[in-house]
Amino acid sequence: MLGELVRRARKAGVQAMVEGPGHVPADEIETSVKAMKHLTDRAPLYLLGPLVTDIAPGYDHITAAIGGVIAGMAGADFLCATTPSEHLDLPTKEDVIEGTYVTRVAAHAADLTRPGVRERARAWDLRMAKSRAELDWEGQFNAAINPAKARQIRHRRGVETDTCTMCSELCAIRLAKEAMEREKQG
Ligand code: SF4
Repeated sequence: MLGELVRRARKAGVQAMVEGPGHVPADEIETSVKAMKHLTDRAPLYLLGPLVTDIAPGYDHITAAIGGVIAGMAGADFLCATTPSEHLDLPTKEDVIEGTYVTRVAAHAADLTRPGVRERARAWDLRMAKSRAELDWEGQFNAAINPAKARQIRHRRGVETDTCTMCSELCAIRLAKEAMEREKQG
């Protein structure tokens, strides 16, 4: 039906965008996306997720993001943002913001694999990797998809250190930097 509608729209000079399914098990997403692109003569395809499981109300922005990455890798063109309120209630402003960021993360994860856009996406990840290797926190916040959230979590306990909380005093990056500094000074 979608394929037929796209053909009729195009014949009438009307642009058509296809909306795909919103609930698909993870192992069926790739086939589903490829079939839709094929049957609609590669019309732009957007998906709401798809959600890979139905058991997680309150976390549907995450179940959608998991499916969104797979769909994006398979050729979906747009991901529709899903909020934590999906299937439960109207979203609050905070829900919309959270859902939008999570969907952007999914789209970026897919972009990292897609020819034509992956160079730009990987350059962004490289910027973060370099900032981490330098223990450059301002660089890390600037490279974060949500700098305000990253900054808030980093400073919420008021502990100021140049390492993160994983290895703290045993931070391999800090120890390596100090060793290199000692080496330089002989
Ligand atoms: S503390 Fe550990 S996880 Fe954190 S930056 Fe250093 S090596 Fe990496």
